[in-house]
Amino acid sequence: KDERIVVLETENAVLHLKLAEYQGLAGRSTKEVLQLYAAHDQQMQFQRSSVVTQLHGAIKKRLKQDLKSLHSFALELSKDFQRQSKTCLYQLLAAVQGLQLQNEAMQMFQIKAFDLEQSLQEVTERYEKEKQKRKALHNSLIELRGNIRVHCRIRPLLPFDDAAGHSQDRQRNFSEKVAYAADDETVLVKCSRPGHASVNKTFQFERVYNDLESQDAVFADVAPLLTSLLDGYNVCIMAYGQTGSGKTYTMLGPQLEGNLAFAIEEESELGIIPRATQEVFRLISEKPPGSYWVEVSVVEVYNNEIFDLLAKDTCGKVFGVKRDVVTTREGKSDVPLLTHETVENVSEFLHLVNKGLQLRVTHPTLVHAHSSRSHLVVTLTITTVVFGDNFGTLWEDEQTSQRLNKEASFTFPQKMRDNKSTSSSRASSPVQLEATEKMKQVKTRLQLVDLAGSECVGLSGVTGAALRETSFINRSLSALADVLGAIAEQRAHVPYRNSKLTHLLQDSVGGDAKLLVMLCISPGQKYLTESMQSLGFGTRARQVQRGQVKKKNFPVPSKGK
Ligand code: ADP
Ligand code: MG
Repeated sequence: KDERIVVLETENAVLHLKLAEYQGLAGRSTKEVLQLYAAHDQQMQFQRSSVVTQLHGAIKKRLKQDLKSLHSFALELSKDFQRQSKTCLYQLLAAVQGLQLQNEAMQMFQIKAFDLEQSLQEVTERYEKEKQKRKALHNSLIELRGNIRVHCRIRPLLPFDDAAGHSQDRQRNFSEKVAYAADDETVLVKCSRPGHASVNKTFQFERVYNDLESQDAVFADVAPLLTSLLDGYNVCIMAYGQTGSGKTYTMLGPQLEGNLAFAIEEESELGIIPRATQEVFRLISEKPPGSYWVEVSVVEVYNNEIFDLLAKDTCGKVFGVKRDVVTTREGKSDVPLLTHETVENVSEFLHLVNKGLQLRVTHPTLVHAHSSRSHLVVTLTITTVVFGDNFGTLWEDEQTSQRLNKEASFTFPQKMRDNKSTSSSRASSPVQLEATEKMKQVKTRLQLVDLAGSECVGLSGVTGAALRETSFINRSLSALADVLGAIAEQRAHVPYRNSKLTHLLQDSVGGDAKLLVMLCISPGQKYLTESMQSLGFGTRARQVQRGQVKKKNFPVPSKGK
């Protein structure tokens, strides 16, 4: 046992030794392991830090690049912004400047407008004064031109001029032109008789129209007369001449079939009557509404009888009724019971006149297939409503004012009184009118006359009833000549009542009325005698104003046998 213990103890000691040795070894290897760990860690750290730096570098580089581009972008942006804001600023500046300018202009305009307003007021006042002066001057002008003036219209040669006429003239060329307009104031007539050298005769008139002059041109010289009408003067325009010389054409326009009406459609061909009416309505439209109205009457003087062409029978059908002309207490001519129709426009007027024309008595003679054997008188009565205090200012010249003041009546037209008024809408309502005590009305008359043919009995080749007609026509035209002669000689008595025609026309021929005679002339050789007679009549009438008339010299149409 003891031996055994000793062996074991020795073994134990050896083991201890060995343990110590191994422990020493283990300690060393732990150290080594730790060192290795540390080395490994270091290695790992080292490795890690190098990737990071690489990455870092790359990132840095990238960042640098980005930053650079960002910088340049920002720079660009700011430059751009600067540029833009600069232009905006300029624009703004310009706008502000513009505004300032506009403001100034506005102020200037305001001042100007104010000035203009003031001057407009002054001008309006002056215009009113000038208007009155114009009226007076216009009247003086018309008077200077002569209260009676004569225009002469030579119509073109027409196909029917070729037709054979008077037997003793048969050997000559009928359609040869012998009457010309030498200029716009002179008529030249080649007078030739068989066996004699031809002689040129000239006649002077206020205006001469050649065969090419239009209805427009003729009316242009007539229109100024109508201004006088609204200034308070009576006006008469009459066409004188032999049958076929263009009287109806000049006064009304081209005739429709059968000479019973005229063609309204061809506006450029319309004659003086429709155009004058149109002008009257135009002039009235420039006046205050309600101060004027127009009534029409259409009469025919046939065989020294007056026929009312607008009269109606109980059925309302137009029916020619005989009327008489009388002289009123004031010395005016008047046709009692004559139909007056209120018209408001030209078409209404034309309708009425055409209706009246359907009744016109016609008789065919050899001179012209549809010769009119009667005088047609279309009368436009213009009534002016004047309110008390304005009366003096409506007519500037004292005379007219006084004259019209005397004439002004206080009565209202039937239509306006019985409140059934259908057509006078331009006038104020009847109630209004009756309420105005100071209101007066003045009537002026425009008489438009298409005289019957002035030819000699011989030329027309008429007998019997037609001869009676011709004799009446010639008598009435002689009476017209006598009246003009008496006015010319300033005789106290003017024989208006010698014929119904002159009696009817009295107020628009004598006194301060304006008369225009439109001489109508056929240019052909065939009509030489008649043309000379008409030209003689015209020349004589013209001298009325000038007071150059020699007694017993007035050429009159040859009286019926
Ligand atoms: P009056 O009325 O004098 O008898 P009209 O007016 O009936 O004559 O004219 C006779 C003819 O001559 C009509 O056919 C008419 O159309 C024509 N006429 C008259 N004057 C002219 C003119 N200036 N231009 C063209 N034709 C005209
Ligand atoms: Mg006629």
